[in-house]
Amino acid sequence: MHVRSQTRSPIRDRTDARQESDPATGGSAGGGRIEHMTDAAQRWVVLDLGETLVDETENWGRWADHLAVPRLTFFAALGAVIAARRPHTDVFELFRPGFRLEEEAPRKAAAGLPWGFSQDDLYLDALPALRDLRAAGFRLAVMANQPAEAMAFLRTLPVDRVATSAGWGVAKPDPAFFARVASEVGTAPEHIAYVGDRVDNDVLPARGAGMLAVHLRRGPWGVIHADWPEAAQAHVRLTSLGAITVALEGWP
Ligand SMILES: [Mg+2]
Repeated sequence: MHVRSQTRSPIRDRTDARQESDPATGGSAGGGRIEHMTDAAQRWVVLDLGETLVDETENWGRWADHLAVPRLTFFAALGAVIAARRPHTDVFELFRPGFRLEEEAPRKAAAGLPWGFSQDDLYLDALPALRDLRAAGFRLAVMANQPAEAMAFLRTLPVDRVATSAGWGVAKPDPAFFARVASEVGTAPEHIAYVGDRVDNDVLPARGAGMLAVHLRRGPWGVIHADWPEAAQAHVRLTSLGAITVALEGWP
């Protein structure tokens, strides 16, 4: 069992992290900044979308349907690709050699199987968690690797800011994505908690950018990545969003 107690203080985690010799997070030099982070109004929680707020089962299922592959087979193959640390888009190559996403995605959409989300795709804990975080004084954003079409859904969420990698022209895990997050919400990285299911795309680059890195162990990436040694780099590790407000109590 690798999941840390969900009620463990993130302050302790953050302090532990600062004591490490870690140039990516500023090492011990970063510790002094914690003393100045007392304005609760400046704290932001920025969340990923896929498998953090929404369950992508139906969207990936539509890809299986479009490729005429049984959903279970497609999902298992996706998991194998993730576990092999390969780009998840390699899953398409297993079933359609020479596959080109930029060509096939419009065909799939035209066939009535678009990539997109509705309220039905939200995890049951998503909206209550956003409500609780806001009640605790956090400002909220959803900034994620998504196509531009996701903006219509993102704008329905009860958060202060939304953005997509497609809209910015830069995607996770590029450090430029996280620099853009900080500039868009208008505060320093140490006032930002970034929440995501992927260790490679969310936890490590968020931590590298100086943010509080929150890993959510759910969805194919979240569950598989939780066993990676690098998952220990997360300052906070959760298995649902139900515990996030308590986990961030006292931060920063
Ligand atoms: Mg995700």
